[in-house]
Order: sequence, then structure tokens, then C-alpha cells
Amino acid sequence: MSKFELDDTIAAIATPAGEGGIAVIRVSGPGAFQAVEPFFVSHEHGKLSEALSHTIRWGKFTDLAGLLVDQVLVSCFRAPRSYTGQDVIEISCHGGLAVTRKILGCLLGEGVRHAEPGEFTRRAFLNGKLDLAQAEAVLDLIRAKSDHSLNIAIRQLSGALSRTLKELKDSLMRLLAHMEAYLDFPEEDLEADGKADLQGQFENVQKKIRSLIAGFERNQWIREGLLVTLVGKPNVGKSSIFNALLERDRALVSDLPHTTRDHLEEALEIQGFYVRLRDTAGLTSETEHPLEQLGMDRTLGSLKESHVVIYVMDGSTPFEEDDRNIFHLIPKDKKIIALVNKSDLAFRIGTEEIKTFLGNKPPIRLSAKTREGFKELEEEIAGYLEQGTSETGEQITKLRHKKALEAALEALRRAERSFQMKMSFEFVTPDLRAALEAMKELTGEVYSEDLLGMIFSEFCVGK
Ligand code: GDP
Repeated sequence: MSKFELDDTIAAIATPAGEGGIAVIRVSGPGAFQAVEPFFVSHEHGKLSEALSHTIRWGKFTDLAGLLVDQVLVSCFRAPRSYTGQDVIEISCHGGLAVTRKILGCLLGEGVRHAEPGEFTRRAFLNGKLDLAQAEAVLDLIRAKSDHSLNIAIRQLSGALSRTLKELKDSLMRLLAHMEAYLDFPEEDLEADGKADLQGQFENVQKKIRSLIAGFERNQWIREGLLVTLVGKPNVGKSSIFNALLERDRALVSDLPHTTRDHLEEALEIQGFYVRLRDTAGLTSETEHPLEQLGMDRTLGSLKESHVVIYVMDGSTPFEEDDRNIFHLIPKDKKIIALVNKSDLAFRIGTEEIKTFLGNKPPIRLSAKTREGFKELEEEIAGYLEQGTSETGEQITKLRHKKALEAALEALRRAERSFQMKMSFEFVTPDLRAALEAMKELTGEVYSEDLLGMIFSEFCVGK
């Protein structure tokens, strides 16, 4: 049997240890009212065990010998209309170590045990008052140190993330139901329309999952610094742009440990975001010098690590094969910001040619010399991070969420591959079910004792 049954009554001090205006002792369980009653004498009302839900009583808390411990307020919540879904009593007393310990000490004993960390929230989860994502948000809310984190936690606690996850799960169930409906028919009977519809559903769900995962990564970047690398041919002005950005924006640290002789890294703050900016050795096809080759290898490594790549071209020279080759070296999953530098000089680069090459997105025109275009560049960098902090889009904050979503995505990819290979739906649906299971683990529809233990052990006692 689980150590965490629901049918006993638990108690704990819910406020931080130390002196304060008030402190709260929380009691939850079927015996909550009976546990407090022997110690409490109401100034105005009758028996505590007859108190209605959502009422507060003022009175004396005495020990069993009848000695006064404190004047207290007792808040009463009846199941299921309480935080834990059980009968709950919260005793507000004066905030001192001795008084809170004494009250708790009186309560602990017959049928009441000291709560484990997070056990009140665990009960709320087990009684269906919160799902796992919401329960985790309780801890995030308590620990939030910035408006940004507070905002994410409160949205998650109010169920916004859970609703998004539920929609995703519903889409998966619909997809599974469609496939199962076709199972009874030979695959050839499925009309082209039906196939396109199923393919559309596959893409749609995957897109949503990917965007949630990307949001998690952006959050990490906000905390740990967005790695932005300047790349381009030699002499296009990368170092000049690097220096100009550092001069404009406050450099936070110099000579970071990552700095190597071949690429320079500095940390700066761009529009309130922490950015690690890297200047790299220029890339060219015309080198035979081993040191230069080494520098270029390092640049390629840096490209792989980067979150954003600033691709620099020189506006005063024609667009060349080397420019094209460098662009193709940038891994496809990177955010690319294309720049045409030296806008103060006569333009010799083919504007239309590069626009077409870049897929119709015009590059930012900039001059490291006159400082034209830097505001646009900074807005583009900050804007990329802001996408992930949008107040309307939901965000996942836990590695657990990311892993579950990645597992769902992987299973979906397998299912989609089998579907595209025109395999019988019997071979597609198991992977779809695996994706669904991963989603259920995320919200806690499916859980293990170990998982709950891992989540709630991080909580404080009394929460
Ligand atoms: P890198 O090799 O790409 O790092 O290029 P550098 O920053 O060393 O610049 C190469 C040359 O171009 C230097 O002589 C710079 O003074 C010059 N340069 C860089 N940016 C500009 C610019 O915006 N306008 C002009 N006129 N010259 C620039």
C-alpha cells in the first residue's frame, strides 16, 4: 500500500519557520475537524465539528490541560470544496516558533500525522483538484523570482497549459479514432481526401508539439544566454559589427571561459535579454594555411552550438560563391539573421539576387561605420526571444514536460513514417497510442509512485 494514503489526517506548519505577523497550521483529512475540536473554544459559536464550509471562527487554542496557547482564527473548508479536496482546517495564530510548534504538537498524535513535503498538493492532485502540470506550477509560483516566471506559473496553475495539452491529446485521440475506423477496410479503399486529411492531422499535432518544445528552449536561452554567432567571409565586417554591438549595449562580462584564440565571445544585454555574442574566423574556400583551416573548423563548430546566426555579407562587393557556400554551412534549424554591411559605401551587391537567395526575406542593411541598422538588428534578436515569452502562448517549464513531449513527437514521427509508407494502419496505431500515453504522463492521467515522489519531494512541508 502507498505510504501516501488519503484516508488519514495530516497536519503541518504552512508558513516559514521564524517570527512573523501570523503563521498558519494546516490540517487535512477526514478527521480534520475532530482533530482540532478538543483544543479550540469558539468565542461566539458552538461546536467546531458543526462549522459550515468557508467560515472562519475566532477563539482560544488551549492544550489538553486547558492552558491557553494562543488566540486564533480557524478557517473551515469542507470536502470537496478545499485545496486538497478533503476537510481542511487552517489555524491562523501569532507567528512565532514556540506557538506554532505547540499547536502542531497538540494536534499530532491520535489519527493525525505530520505531513510529508508537498503532501497537501499531492492530495489535491490525487483528488482531481489539480492535474500534474498545475501541481508543478504551485512550486514554480512559490519560487518565482521575476514577473516573467510568475506570469508563466500563474497561467499554468490556472490550467492554461493543461488546456493546451488536453487539446493536443484530443487531436491525437481523433487521429487514432480515424485510423481505427479505417482498420476494418483495406488500405486502398481510403480515398485521397481521407489520406490528405490524416496527413494534415499528423502535421498539425506535430507542429504544436514542436512549438511547445521550442518555447522550453527559448526559456532556457533567456536564463542561460542566447548564443549568437557572426559568420561570413573575411573582411565583410564581422569584427566591426561585434565591436559596435558591444559599444552600444552594455557588455556584461569580458573574456568568458568559452573564449578561445580563434573566436571571441562577449556577453552583453540586448533589450533586457542576456546574449552571448561570438565573432568567428572568416570562412573562405581559398585557404591552404593549416592555422586558418583550424580557425574555420572552429567556426563550423560554433555554428552548430549557436541559437542564432548572424550571416554577414559585404554590400560593397558582389555576392559570390563563397557567400553562398557559407550560407549553406549554417545548420537548418538555426535562426538566421541576414545582414548586408557597409551600407555607407556604394552598393555593388545584387539586392534582388540576395533577396531571392534568402527566400524573399530582405536582409537588414547596416553599417558598422555609421551605426545605421543596429536598432533593427537588436530588435530582430530580442524579438526572437520574445516569441517564446508571449503571454498568450503557453510554455512548458520542466524538463519532464519536454521529455514527455519529445517522446510523443518521436512516436508520432514513427507513426507518420509508417502511414506514408502505406503500411497497414495496424502498424501505425501502436505508435499513435504510445504518443498518447506520453501525453497522459505529462498531465498525470497516468503516473507512477516514483514520478509523484520525484515531483512532490521538491515541495516544502505544509504545501
Ligand atoms: P571581418 O574580417 O569580417 O571581421 O571584417 P572587419 O570587421 O575586420 O572589417 C574589414 C574591413 O572593413 C575593415 O577595414 C573595416 O574598417 C571595414 N568595415 C567594416 N565595416 C564597415 C562599414 O560598415 N563601412 C565601411 N566603410 N567599412 C567597414
